[in-house]
Amino acid sequence: MADNGIQLVLENYIGGKFLPCSAYIDSYDPSTGRVYCKVPDSGSEEVDTAVRAAKEAFPDWSSRSPADRAQVMNKLADLMEARLEEFAQAESKDQGKTMTFARTVDIPRSVHNLRFFASSVQHHTTDCSQMDHMGCLNYTIRSPVGVAGLISPWNLPLYLLTWKIAPAIATGNTVVAKPSEMTSVTAWMMCKLMNEAGVPPGVVNMVFGTGPRAGDALVGHPDVPLVSFTGSTATARVITERSAPYCKKLSLELGGKNPAIVFADADMEQCISTTVRSSFSNQGEICLCTSRIFVERSIFPEFLEKFVAAARKWKTGDPSDVSSNNGALISKEHLEKVRGFVKLAREEGAQVHCGEGVDALDLPARNLGGYFMPATVISGVKDSSRVMQEEIFGPVTCLAPFDLEEEAVSRANGVRYGLAATVWSRDVGRVHRVARRLQAGLVWTNCWLVRDLNLPFGGMKNSGVGREGGKDSYHFFTEVKTVTIKQ
Ligand code: NAD
Repeated sequence: MADNGIQLVLENYIGGKFLPCSAYIDSYDPSTGRVYCKVPDSGSEEVDTAVRAAKEAFPDWSSRSPADRAQVMNKLADLMEARLEEFAQAESKDQGKTMTFARTVDIPRSVHNLRFFASSVQHHTTDCSQMDHMGCLNYTIRSPVGVAGLISPWNLPLYLLTWKIAPAIATGNTVVAKPSEMTSVTAWMMCKLMNEAGVPPGVVNMVFGTGPRAGDALVGHPDVPLVSFTGSTATARVITERSAPYCKKLSLELGGKNPAIVFADADMEQCISTTVRSSFSNQGEICLCTSRIFVERSIFPEFLEKFVAAARKWKTGDPSDVSSNNGALISKEHLEKVRGFVKLAREEGAQVHCGEGVDALDLPARNLGGYFMPATVISGVKDSSRVMQEEIFGPVTCLAPFDLEEEAVSRANGVRYGLAATVWSRDVGRVHRVARRLQAGLVWTNCWLVRDLNLPFGGMKNSGVGREGGKDSYHFFTEVKTVTIKQ
């Protein structure tokens, strides 16, 4: 990796070749605040070249058997796994996350995404039915859609990109992917392994650049019939409008304002350690992070005290230090936005118990220009406040007491988002009841972020449209056709 003033310059990967771009964007190391990498500022020309390459590769790739495609994908996974440390270092430097998180979550999961979908698509069956009275046999065929446009965000860069690339190519599509312009390095590193893995030229094309230029060109390209997007709800609106004239297939994985409901009978110790993790992991920059914690009133004072004590131990520091739980936020602008929510909470009369403005950070000299913020716990915020309604996407969580189960569910549901929720209780009946009534695509009870990739992932309300994972990804990345045969 380039460092010590030497800049890393990325190139687009199109048709199996690395191609320079005429303009570049600065990419910052969030832990130092310094530019360390140049990312292509691609536009419609580069996107069009990539779409043509993907179209050219489609007939061959789509006609290969799932087992043949799996072989290539598994080889790519092996090559990435062999370079896990290198990938983890790059992800940490590019995104600001801790090396520990990149090493144990981002990169292993990226490898797993490839292996999972390589295997998974070989195990789905299609439907068959007989209509006896007509003497007809009905069955379904699933075919890849064509060139898939894949757009991913900056918080889990390679993890979320491979979550799209893997099912797309496993099902026989070819792809043009655009990672976030803020975190493009590991995608570029993965492209360097494509040839050795045996990925034919044009099957995976990577176009780097901003949303309004490269992203927009991809979404608006007439030869891209399907777009899978993970990012903010605001961008999803633009993408929906832009793709509407073409009737594209869309999958939208968006933001969240995820509640935890803690009942008095919960295992408090387990709940606190998991909820601190669910609130602050990856600097709170995970769409599934908990940001509103409703606690039954009888245990609220004790819970708050213990939660704040645990949050204070959640160390923010140099991402390469193994003792750091959190690294830096993605950008200066994002740090200011997150700080703005804490300021607003204070202005509205809330209490900030720890973190921003309360606890000073002890950072090494090299990190003094970085975008760090300590784990912050707030109480006394009204449900109607923007702090309780909008996605903050940083290390900030709000606690509030509740009296009745009914009330907790209704307050948890009282936002425009519906991505994930957690419920803490030992009462199985209540857990089922509450899970059924929560407006969220994922409900974890007495745990958080436990994922079986076979099961649907996605949100309701403003948190998304469609589901991905296992059979859902298989369905999204293929078109189904019903064939009826009369004897
Ligand atoms: P973002 O919407 O700003 O950007 C996401 C991607 O879209 C980037 O690659 C960006 O360049 C691109 N983009 C921006 N404008 C575009 C346009 N007009 N046309 C096409 N592409 C465009 O989101 P972000 O700030 O990178 O990511 C954070 C958001 O992502 C949060 O809201 C978070 O909750 C959400 N997220 C959701 C999930 C999920 O699975 N539901 C997972 C991770 C992150």
